[in-house]
Amino acid sequence: MKVCRFEKDGRASYGLIEGDIVVPLSGAPWLGPLERGSARVALSSVKLLAPVEPSKVVAVGLNYRKHAEEMKKPLPEEPLLFIKPSTAVNGPMGPVVLPPQSKEVHHEAELGLVIGTRLHRASEAQAAEGIFGLTCVNDVTARDIQRREIQHTRSKSFDTFACIGPWVVTGLSPADLAVRCRVNGQVRQDGRTSDLIFPPARLVAFISDVMTLLPGDVISTGTPSGVGVLKAGDVVEVDIEGVGVLQNPVVNLA
Ligand code: ZN
Repeated sequence: MKVCRFEKDGRASYGLIEGDIVVPLSGAPWLGPLERGSARVALSSVKLLAPVEPSKVVAVGLNYRKHAEEMKKPLPEEPLLFIKPSTAVNGPMGPVVLPPQSKEVHHEAELGLVIGTRLHRASEAQAAEGIFGLTCVNDVTARDIQRREIQHTRSKSFDTFACIGPWVVTGLSPADLAVRCRVNGQVRQDGRTSDLIFPPARLVAFISDVMTLLPGDVISTGTPSGVGVLKAGDVVEVDIEGVGVLQNPVVNLA
């Protein structure tokens, strides 16, 4: 199943993508039983929105060995968590807005896990069950600000810095997927989720020991090596095997 959120004639709805058609849904499938609308809408005629409306995006730092090396940081013994606010969420083709406070905004291609059920102190088995599906995330980061501050809130939380989409795919194992980032067509990051230090179910269980995860929340699982600078005029793509390609243009703050 491929779940999207889309805008058509000024109205936003969830939908199922079936080939080049979108079937509208009565609501988010992780919030209740699926009710399919009778309409059939051409995918090419809609504007895709971020496929989730998360209460929070929980992200994980340094979850790939080579990325920890490039950041010159020791491997974490436990997952290193931070939150990206829901106001940072950005959809497919939504411009990443470079803030004037930073001279060094980086892309971070990541596998996103969309939570399907309320999880509180979940076991790894419950956590695995509780993952509704997978999506692409670009955890956009003001690296210069991150370097000079001891925590990540400011560097990771600018509006438009949590790119999510283009849709949510179900029934796909997150265990060994290629995670790539391209900037203007050139490959910058090329990793595999099999290299994750803390794999998806373990991460979700760990996070649910700290905070209750709600349906629609997104866990961004960390980025492989190759992070780098984004400039105004660039087009950045996160491409995850079996999931899809999330594309965003980069612009200066007007
Ligand atoms: Zn990240």
